[in-house]
Amino acid sequence: MRLDKFLANAGLGSRKEVKALLKKRCVMVNGQLAKDSSVHVDEINDSIAVNGKPIYYQKYTYIMLHKPSGVISATADKQDKTVIELLSHELQKFKPFPVGRLDKDTEGLLILTNDGQLAHELLSPKKHVTKTYFAKIKGEVTEADCMAFANGVTLDDGYRTKPATLRILKQAAQSEVEIMITEGKYHQIKRMFRAVDKQVAYLKRTTMGKLHLDKALKKGEYRQLRVEEVKLLQ
Ligand code: URA
Repeated sequence: MRLDKFLANAGLGSRKEVKALLKKRCVMVNGQLAKDSSVHVDEINDSIAVNGKPIYYQKYTYIMLHKPSGVISATADKQDKTVIELLSHELQKFKPFPVGRLDKDTEGLLILTNDGQLAHELLSPKKHVTKTYFAKIKGEVTEADCMAFANGVTLDDGYRTKPATLRILKQAAQSEVEIMITEGKYHQIKRMFRAVDKQVAYLKRTTMGKLHLDKALKKGEYRQLRVEEVKLLQ
């Protein structure tokens, strides 16, 4: 594989940005300064470092997006802007897709990847991956609601939810809460609050499994996951 492709795949920037790194004499291949971005490297056996830090080969692309409201979690849509359109053309070339869905008006952590196996495992009901949300709720959320969520509530289609943790952060006419669920039914959180006669005014996902939304990412911003972050998801 070409060195610039290897570095771009590893999340070090677009091909152009990677070339700039080479120009700045930041890239070493097997202990030698690399100057030519088109040189071929063996992604498994060559040791490649940028600014002294070893870079490991990643077969797939993993992206953390701070999803803004107003875009949909799909790869293509006739009407609405999709999360894919927020990504650079370089990253779009890897054909990433969103791991699960956040509603159009929901913000926060969305993982995009082209690793079908990882996506499948994160979404599998058998894996019980915990997802944490911050929500603003119309009305006063009570301890009784926390108990109801802990015991499971019955949704409009008769489905009884698995135990969920509801923590009240602010009890007011518009309450603020943190909620942790281990499943991902359609509009689950909005429907859970509807089951206790309350309405979600704002929803943001903050974690998925052990991965936290990077606070440095503003709405609409994204970055590739580091190798150790991908490991947190596996
Ligand atoms: N629950 C919802 O109701 N909406 C989301 O986007 C995610 C979870």
